[in-house]
Amino acid sequence: MKHILITGGAGFIGSHLTAFLLNQGCQVTVLDNLQTGSLLNLDFCKHHPGFEFIRQDICEPIDLNVDEIYHLACPASPLHYQADPVKTTKTCVLGALNVLEMAKKNQCRILTASTSEVYGDPLVHPQVENDWGNVNPVGIRSCYDEGKRCAETLFMDYHRYYDVDVVIARIFNTYGPRMSLDDGRVIPNFIAQALKNEPLTLYGDGSQTRSLCYVDDMIRGLTGMMALAKPITGPFNVGNPDECTVKQIAETILSLTRSKSNMINKPLPQDDPMRRCPDITRFSQLTGFKPSVSLEAGLKRTIAYFEAKLCEYAGAS
Ligand code: UDP
Repeated sequence: MKHILITGGAGFIGSHLTAFLLNQGCQVTVLDNLQTGSLLNLDFCKHHPGFEFIRQDICEPIDLNVDEIYHLACPASPLHYQADPVKTTKTCVLGALNVLEMAKKNQCRILTASTSEVYGDPLVHPQVENDWGNVNPVGIRSCYDEGKRCAETLFMDYHRYYDVDVVIARIFNTYGPRMSLDDGRVIPNFIAQALKNEPLTLYGDGSQTRSLCYVDDMIRGLTGMMALAKPITGPFNVGNPDECTVKQIAETILSLTRSKSNMINKPLPQDDPMRRCPDITRFSQLTGFKPSVSLEAGLKRTIAYFEAKLCEYAGAS
């Protein structure tokens, strides 16, 4: 039985990955400081014999014997990563060093969750892996963008200098159940607002684009990368190339929830990327990866989750 470490496993994507790997018969250790993750996300497996939880900050060194590492630990929504930007940079850089040291010692494969943010406000569209990006090094998103870029540098240098088997996954916008309601990102915000019949807050005029990947497709992508037979560093874009404007996302959510909400415009946050869409050719050609969940189907499942959550909160208060 493979023993797998997931850092950040109590978060949104991490908890889905935990479920998937436990179902595959793996032994899973989740390490998380619960800064943005929650044990509620892991409620489904707390009594599973193959599951273990360690509460620890990734900025502290770790020493475990494992066969594979998925490194996901880091706040990922702009609201959360900007709340304590110095801590975010530390998490990206010190966290990467700590997990890489562990991978070196264990001589095991390590996959890191990098991000489309390494492209900044992209000049090349759709984003291809050999584009070096257009990132503001001194803006409010820089703690995350530059932190993740530096983490990629560390992963490549541990690969070149210490022969560590690394995989860099550049994750594009992902959504689905277990996103937190107060996450500040577009999908939880719009769904919660629509369900409460409150105005949907469109930042700017809503013409900026995103390409949204349902979490099940993302998990297939990440585990597919980990399963590649030969050591291949990437970086690989992973996401769903189905691009739409933020306004279209709002309209789809309004229609699916049959909400009475309208839309209001709010200022566009500083350095908000205007266009984002992954070119997934590199990874698709290698593995045949293709997202299979449409935006409408994924949103229906996500709306059902948030509906249940809002009822829970209403019942509790
Ligand atoms: N956005 C919006 N209203 C919201 C939250 C987000 O219009 O209530 C926009 C945001 O400006 C960005 C896009 O939706 O253009 C995606 O934002 P999110 O915070 O989800 O993630 P990002 O892709 O920017 O990291």
